[in-house]
Amino acid sequence: MQLRYSFRLYPNGPQRSALAQAFGCARVVHNDALRARETARTAGEPFPKTGDLSKLLITEAKKTEERAWLGDVSAVVLQQSLRDLDTAYRNFFDGLRGKRPRMGAPRFKSRKDNRQAVRFTANARWKITTGGDLSLPKIGDVRVKWSRSLPSTPSTVTVIKDASGRYFASFVVETEPDAMPPPALSEVGIDLGLSHFAILSDGTKIESPRFLRRAEKKLKKAQRALSRKKKGSSNRNKARLKVARAHAQVADARREFHHQLSTRIIRENQAVAVEDLAVKGLARTRLAKSVHDAGWSAFVSMLEYKATRYGRTFVRIGRFEPTSQICCACGVKDGPKPLHVREWTCSACGAVLDRDINAAVNVAKAAGLAVSACGAQVRPGLVPAQRGEAGTHRDGQTTVAGIPGL
Ligand SMILES: [Zn+2]
Repeated sequence: MQLRYSFRLYPNGPQRSALAQAFGCARVVHNDALRARETARTAGEPFPKTGDLSKLLITEAKKTEERAWLGDVSAVVLQQSLRDLDTAYRNFFDGLRGKRPRMGAPRFKSRKDNRQAVRFTANARWKITTGGDLSLPKIGDVRVKWSRSLPSTPSTVTVIKDASGRYFASFVVETEPDAMPPPALSEVGIDLGLSHFAILSDGTKIESPRFLRRAEKKLKKAQRALSRKKKGSSNRNKARLKVARAHAQVADARREFHHQLSTRIIRENQAVAVEDLAVKGLARTRLAKSVHDAGWSAFVSMLEYKATRYGRTFVRIGRFEPTSQICCACGVKDGPKPLHVREWTCSACGAVLDRDINAAVNVAKAAGLAVSACGAQVRPGLVPAQRGEAGTHRDGQTTVAGIPGL
């Protein structure tokens, strides 16, 4: 299995310029190749081969006046840009065929993109120097902050510049494949909560972890500071960079949280059901903001690919199932309830229902999973979860995600 290891890079001034040039050249080759393929497609001609594009867009182009500068950067970087476009096309087509999560068609890159990247393969003869620098062809020896050690020698390194101007080296390392987790006995339904990130049909309520909430708080503070700065001032520029950096940190923290939680759910359950919220359909409702903020769809697609990878069942149920209107204990439909109603007693069977857990059980049942309804019953005296700081444990029900050991 291939794993990715990322480390912060600290290029000096000339190295930053050389990297900017490499990002630019890789981008131009990518865009030229994309254009050639789109043109062929519109004209109904066969898909141009990568070898042909390489000859035309790199080797030949270098001899022309308008593309002569392609010769200033490592040729491997340009070749790799073509190969990465190939992969993007392959993933796109595999997504259409349902072999992997769906993704958009490859698109043109811009110098304004949030993420700039170039990839160096073994052919580029990059290396890690004895002094611990990353030596890159036509760029130089770049200082690296090694936050952990690599398990084996990597063959490829991708150099990335993010929106906030940070540089990273991302290594692909070949490791022994993960053992398939043992089959699990439980099956679970998951509902998107309003007061929590997610609710499981077994009664677990999952809050965003502290590290994510802290990053979000920092972002809000940076945004407020930015709005107070005068337009066009140098302080405003500084504040804007701070906001971009805080944004990147929130995105990183959120991805980390989604990874931890999805891994845990897939390991612990043989089948997982979620409600297909069709996030786009919610765009105009007041739910929209919280749905987008919580990154629900990114989380759901992680669950989906991990389920595939570990041989678990994944079910998405339609969004028209009225999950909050049906009693999960007896199945009686007793009508919609306003959002502020967090729990009620079923008029038919007398079960005390927690809105969120009831919904999660209904999601599981709609997907045909074997879950018991009792998980949805609220024990008398259970206080609704607070939104305050920290992972408060109540009757062992509220779980803080981000548990170590995942
Ligand atoms: Zn009932």
